[in-house]
Amino acid sequence: MITLLVVLAVVVVVAATAGLVTTSRRHRLLEPPARPKQGGGRTAPPPSIEVNQGEVEAAEQAEREAQLAVPEAEPEPWVTEPPRLRDRLGRARALLSEAMGGILSRGRVDEEALEEMEEALIGADVGVVATSNLLSGLRSRMAAREITSTAQLMQALRSEMITMLQAGERSLDAGEGSANVWLFVGVNGVGKTTSIAKVAMREAGEGKSVILAAGDTFRAAAVEQLQHWAQRVEVDIVSGAEGADPGSVVFDAVQRAAARNADLVLADTAGRLHTKVNLMEELKKVKRVASKPPGVVREVLLVIDATTGQNGIVQARQFAGAVEVTGVVLTKMDGSAKGGIVLAIESELGIPVKLVGIGEGPNDLVGFDPEQFVDAILGVAGEKAA
Ligand code: GDP
Repeated sequence: MITLLVVLAVVVVVAATAGLVTTSRRHRLLEPPARPKQGGGRTAPPPSIEVNQGEVEAAEQAEREAQLAVPEAEPEPWVTEPPRLRDRLGRARALLSEAMGGILSRGRVDEEALEEMEEALIGADVGVVATSNLLSGLRSRMAAREITSTAQLMQALRSEMITMLQAGERSLDAGEGSANVWLFVGVNGVGKTTSIAKVAMREAGEGKSVILAAGDTFRAAAVEQLQHWAQRVEVDIVSGAEGADPGSVVFDAVQRAAARNADLVLADTAGRLHTKVNLMEELKKVKRVASKPPGVVREVLLVIDATTGQNGIVQARQFAGAVEVTGVVLTKMDGSAKGGIVLAIESELGIPVKLVGIGEGPNDLVGFDPEQFVDAILGVAGEKAA
């Protein structure tokens, strides 16, 4: 009996222990998964998941930073890319390139091809002197058997033109220190005021301090126009009353430049006088005044409207005879200009074309590059030949 009781007691104890173990195991299975321990414990989730989240967060952060780094302000107008001469040459490009394309398609090079070329060059405003210089160069190359096809003829024309234009010194002299003066001369309507504004914007954009001098005191509209431009391109201006002495306006501008340590005075001048005063004498006087210390006239820029063709050459002769012209600003090359006038100016007058106006906007001005210009006016024909 006692033995039976002992066995029963053992069975009860064993059963109770087994139940406790099972319950405890079930409880453990129902528990949520252990949280990953900071610092990396054995219970941490698979590392690949953690790395992916980190990458996403890093990418998002980088994107936010990149967005913050983008400048929100509009670029200054002079920082924008200037237009290309080639894209703006209207008639000049079409005229010569069409004629040259015709010559090129002849294949054979003979006297007729040369005559056709001569006609095309004269028609494009290249002028008699420059045209005959170009043709005599081509003839001697033909005689030397260097040219035996129209393709070679075109190639030779291109290189003769570039050589003709290569001699000019095209940089603009801003000098050192303050009160350096660039005088702008030319007849009314050629684009003097507009060119001054374009140059002001260009020079100011390059970090120079610029003062405009409204020296065309004979036209109220010219003064107002320059004032308007000064405001637009944000440069200082000195102007006098209508009819005031142009020399005194330029003198005041030079004084102001010296006082304010400004680099450059861009001075407008009259293009036609309503009085009996001779325009050329007046310009000489303005130049003398501008040259009085501390003023130094570094450039006398003759503004010529390219659409006036050979008339521009006549004007250039007159101005060059009065004041020592150091360079030409050729305007309106984007319009109906035939383009060849560049070669005429340089070969007949020996004055380098320094700047070219190709539109009415303040950014529409480019430096003159002979090679680019020749390729642009010869167009497809020139490029094929090159
Ligand atoms: P100014 O009398 O010599 O001072 O000539 P303006 O500067 O007043 O210019 C006369 C006209 O020519 C204006 O309508 C200008 O907008 C225009 N003009 C000036 N330069 C250019 C140019 O490069 N291209 C074109 N298409 N027009 C120009």
